[in-house]
Amino acid sequence: MTPLPPKIEIIAVGTELLTPYYQDTDSLYITQRLNDLGLTVSFKTIVGDTTEDLQQCFRTALQRSDWIFTVGGLGPTEDDRTREVLAAALERELVFRPDILDRIKTLFKKLGVSMSAANKKQAYIIQDAAVLDNNNGTAPGLWIEEGNKHIILLPGPPRELKSMFESSVWPRIQSFRSFFLVRRTLKMSGTGESFIESLISDLHPQDSRLNLTMLSYPGQIEIHLTGRSETSEYEAQALVEELRMHLEQRLTPYIFSTSGEELEAVVGRLLTSKQKTLAVAESCTGGLLGHRITNIPGSSGYFVGGVQAYSNQVKLELLGVPAEQVQRHGAVSSEVAGSMASGIRSKTRSDFALAITGVAGPDGGTPEKPVGLVYTALAYEGGIVCERNIFPGNRETIKIRSTQKALSMLLKHLSSPQSGAHPGRKP
Ligand code: ATP
Ligand code: MG
Repeated sequence: MTPLPPKIEIIAVGTELLTPYYQDTDSLYITQRLNDLGLTVSFKTIVGDTTEDLQQCFRTALQRSDWIFTVGGLGPTEDDRTREVLAAALERELVFRPDILDRIKTLFKKLGVSMSAANKKQAYIIQDAAVLDNNNGTAPGLWIEEGNKHIILLPGPPRELKSMFESSVWPRIQSFRSFFLVRRTLKMSGTGESFIESLISDLHPQDSRLNLTMLSYPGQIEIHLTGRSETSEYEAQALVEELRMHLEQRLTPYIFSTSGEELEAVVGRLLTSKQKTLAVAESCTGGLLGHRITNIPGSSGYFVGGVQAYSNQVKLELLGVPAEQVQRHGAVSSEVAGSMASGIRSKTRSDFALAITGVAGPDGGTPEKPVGLVYTALAYEGGIVCERNIFPGNRETIKIRSTQKALSMLLKHLSSPQSGAHPGRKP
């Protein structure tokens, strides 16, 4: 007889998670990783820091669940009570571990700050618990066996939780795997969801082991594929790859990544491989393009910098846009976008320059120049190209779409046939 799958419960601890300002994203992460193994979560609770509520929550969980993940409340402060309350619920002692205190002390020393007395609390563990190392913080996690039950205490800060989960929890739960799951993401730009759908409508998988989901973001469409196999990762991979191949045949002109990379990462990779540099001049996006480009580690190798040319004065004085051009065509015009791009390119002596000027709204639109009108320009050795678009959406969305368009223009140029590169493929 196959054993029943374990009943799994996640408890997110923290009064702040019961306010409108914080979201319990940790439990989503844990759920996703458990789902990757074919395990499902039966209960999820968010509970405040009060002892009484925690007690009640842990007691209920211990009665109904086989695996209990708690998240948060392992810190040094008064309101971090997960350890104490759970120890009481399990009728176990808290045991001082000098080795953990030493580790915390070393961590503080490395950071060049003195350890507060409160941190000593983190060196107390629940009797007979296994310690899960925290590579990104002070609070160790704990793994407790109680009869047939597993209780896993994890820290709240997502960076700490993820790395602890991957290094200490993931290897321990492999034997509970009921299937292998492989994911693949195709990212596209330059067209809309309904057009993509019309191109691939007959490719939606009939096989229940395969799943295709389409997601739409400003200026970007994603297709998420998952393949499932009860026997091997190889089989799951093969299922996904076959579907991916068929999709790619139809969607090649729009795909910029098949490995989950963001547009700015793909552009960065191509600039790096061609040893070319990039500068930007941004008006209505106010630095968002530079921000996206510099989000990519290693961008200092190709990104030289940029100017937020928000006012006409900066466009004229720093970028050398001719005043006559602004007077005659307005700051939001293809002429000014082109001059901004060539201006920043020559000032910074970079190989490529991108410029954006537009009306992000909600005010400032006119019948000739409505909200959402954006000009994006690319300057390169051989000349300047400019595009005119009217983007839908609010101010934030228009800014995102504008940067997406500018990056797409550069990508198109970098991956044009004479350059011999395909954006979606890593070398
Ligand atoms: P610390 O040592 O930082 O106090 P902790 O384990 O005690 O860690 P908490 O004090 O509960 O964790 O939470 C610290 C921070 O971690 C919170 O302010 C919040 O930003 C984040 N956090 C906590 N729980 C969650 C959660 N379930 N999902 C996402 N973020 C969370
Ligand atoms: Mg805390």
